[in-house]
Amino acid sequence: MDMKITFLGTGVAIPQKDRVQSGVLIEYGENKVLFDCGGGILNRIFESGVLHTEIDTIVLSHLHLDHVADVMCLLKANWLCEKLDAVIYGPVGTQEWLGRLMAIYPYMKVKVNVEVREVVAGEEFELSQGCNVRCTDGIHSVPSLGYRVEHDGEVVVYSGDTEPCDSIMKLAQGADMLIHECSFPLDFPMTNHATPDMLRPYLENSDISKVYLTHLYPHMQGHEKETLEYIKEKYEGEVHIASDLMTVEL
Ligand SMILES: [Zn+2]
Ligand SMILES: [Zn+2]
Repeated sequence: MDMKITFLGTGVAIPQKDRVQSGVLIEYGENKVLFDCGGGILNRIFESGVLHTEIDTIVLSHLHLDHVADVMCLLKANWLCEKLDAVIYGPVGTQEWLGRLMAIYPYMKVKVNVEVREVVAGEEFELSQGCNVRCTDGIHSVPSLGYRVEHDGEVVVYSGDTEPCDSIMKLAQGADMLIHECSFPLDFPMTNHATPDMLRPYLENSDISKVYLTHLYPHMQGHEKETLEYIKEKYEGEVHIASDLMTVEL
């Protein structure tokens, strides 16, 4: 096994049964990297069997609450267990966002040692032990980044919140796994998010091995089978709908 992906949260800002907000844990070797940390993720980390104190690298797609609400909670839980260091990658604005929160919670500010690294589209950075990450812009109501994570020849791409678009699909070229948001069902009129009909043309003739759909609004309930069948009509790779605590090994 090279990489292990755990869907911690596959839901959105509106609560629903069995799906908390956004979060994906990627593990390689002893390393653990958390992509997004919305409400409910801290508890899902516990439920996954991973120790929250093992997570000190957080990569944020964007600053919407359903992707960041548990960041301070995770930092606090770690602090209470004497894990004080963390690195947070995120789009421009992440530093100011965290700085303002820390100003409201000064007892946190003096305890934890968080380094924020803001990244922009096209940037590449290296996480511990030879894990390379590249990011690009999605199309969303606020700046949102998608990330391509490559370790030992295995590639996982996480779309963040976005309409299906050229930049994210280019980032996903040749990926073993694409985690793409699919917020709403077929033919739902929508911008800034994905629906199956918006996504399928980009998957048709792509060289992506498998796609996991996440970030499901309650509107998607009951449309899972139709979504998978629709995409499979034109896409030859595997397609799945992610669920909380589902794990995939590459
Ligand atoms: Zn969003
Ligand atoms: Zn979202």
